[in-house]
Amino acid sequence: MKDIKVLLSDKKNIVITMHKNPDCDALGSSLGLAHILGNIGHKVKVISPNSYPEFLNWLPGQEKVLNYENNIIESENVIADSDIIFCLDFNNLKRLGDMKTLIEKSNSYKILIDHHEDPNNFCDFMFSMPSKSSTCEMIYDFAVNVGLIDKIDSAAANCLYAGIVTDTGGFAYPCVTEETFKTAAFFIRKGANISKINQSLNDYSYNRLKLLGYSILEKTEYLNDFKTSIIFLTNDELNEFNFKKGDTEGIVNYGLSVKNCVFAAFFLEKDGIVKISFRSKYNFDVNKFASKYFNGGGHVNAAGGMSRESLDDTISKFKDILLNYAKDLNG
Ligand code: 5GP
Ligand code: MN
Repeated sequence: MKDIKVLLSDKKNIVITMHKNPDCDALGSSLGLAHILGNIGHKVKVISPNSYPEFLNWLPGQEKVLNYENNIIESENVIADSDIIFCLDFNNLKRLGDMKTLIEKSNSYKILIDHHEDPNNFCDFMFSMPSKSSTCEMIYDFAVNVGLIDKIDSAAANCLYAGIVTDTGGFAYPCVTEETFKTAAFFIRKGANISKINQSLNDYSYNRLKLLGYSILEKTEYLNDFKTSIIFLTNDELNEFNFKKGDTEGIVNYGLSVKNCVFAAFFLEKDGIVKISFRSKYNFDVNKFASKYFNGGGHVNAAGGMSRESLDDTISKFKDILLNYAKDLNG
């Protein structure tokens, strides 16, 4: 922190980036930090590896985010001119998708702030705290430690509160602590508008609502012997509901809400691959499960992965793997 304080003591060109397919914690922490650093005179650019869901397009400052996929040359120039790159809400370069090499090759100081399990070592400074609820909560701690707490303005507070509320399922998951609430309370004092944030995040398009209803009523399979819920959606089904990015976020949680359910998996056939979301209760470790079998990772109770096999083969493989976990899931 002392070294970072020195680094930040004069005007710098700063890039803030996040994982591909950013969620509210990734985008919220990046924008929150951008506001804080902008408030002390740094030149800050937030770069996202690709687009983000429409329901995030109200976060203060999001209109200035550079989308790498649509602006490759400009992104390369901004990164080439940068002194410092912040890597937020990811801890493995492969989560940057096509932007990986660009960040990997850059000689700028790299600072990681993240709360996922099993970090890779690719930054000059690493703040990795898997016990933290969200990267947004960690940005508060970071601001305290580098003496920038009074630079958290209303714009930053709204971005950072939003990331906490989404990554904790509305302050409901085991990662929530007294500190989480204190941090959120600080953001409210600084101007986070709770009801506006919740409404912005939870207002569904009609298509999204219908897709959610269809997924719950028609597509949920509960495997009682394994205390496991499975939901899958095919490409055709997505087209039928005029799928837009972000429309399937949160569906997996409905699978987990079945009484006694311990493990939920959601399979999405999209862009020639199968994207998978895992959620769990108690100490069933979906980070380990996702990294062992499905090229992914995340947290103990929430993780993601992918498969290049067909949707049918992926689900068959998943069900075969479950046979090895019958005892754990019923324990
Ligand atoms: P989701 O199911 O919402 O896509 O992801 C759940 C959690 O796992 C999020 O915190 C997300 O950042 C993380 N996650 C998703 N995919 C991966 C992955 O491939 N690797 C790692 N380390 N984390 C992932
Ligand atoms: Mn996060």
